[in-house]
Amino acid sequence: MIIVLLGPPGTGKGTQAAAVRNRFRIPHISTGDIFRRNLAEGTPLGLEAKGYMEKGELVPDGLVLDLVADRLRGPDCRDGFLLDGFPRTEVQAEALDRLLSGAGRSIDHVVLLEAPDETVVDRLAGRRVCKSCGAVWHVTHNPPPADLVCPECSGEIYQRADDAAEAVLNRLRVYVRQTGPLIGYYDAKGLIRRVDGSRPPAEVVEALFRSLA
Ligand code: AMP
Repeated sequence: MIIVLLGPPGTGKGTQAAAVRNRFRIPHISTGDIFRRNLAEGTPLGLEAKGYMEKGELVPDGLVLDLVADRLRGPDCRDGFLLDGFPRTEVQAEALDRLLSGAGRSIDHVVLLEAPDETVVDRLAGRRVCKSCGAVWHVTHNPPPADLVCPECSGEIYQRADDAAEAVLNRLRVYVRQTGPLIGYYDAKGLIRRVDGSRPPAEVVEALFRSLA
């Protein structure tokens, strides 16, 4: 099964992706996570992406496409995969279609997670994440431990630079302008499954699984 998770930042794509990965036993491929790993390791790709990421801008298509093409060749992607945060532009969506059709494959579902702007701004501005394992907290709804040490893996709990208030607003604008057109692109192919991402995570998981049935 090949699934694309679409939706503005802060609609719970990471949480939902983990549930889908466990249920369908397919890899969860997050281009944002790949960039953050490269940034932490100081690779040339990470250094190139840094400035764009901190401002909440998209990294240029060329950089993203190479890394995705490479990742999808992994043997663990043979039975399917879930894409989270990719594609984000029409150029990327078209490139993905070409990549898949070249291998005789195609997308099965595009899940669109939706939530009002106020909800996503609150979620992102209050979000804290573990640098090592990606576990997520929220300063008021689910506060992290006071010592900011992850109870799961002892990693450092921090606020992503792009979760700061100005960057969040920019990410939302970028989403509407550059990723918004993908809804029409996939709707025309009959692939879009709309899911209300403003509900509590467990309810969203249920709705998402129903949408794939
Ligand atoms: P995310 O964790 O998906 O919100 O991604 C964090 C940041 O990584 C984004 O704001 C972009 O700067 C960059 N990024 C991740 N995926 C892409 C993509 N498909 N195209 C361009 N930039 C991306």
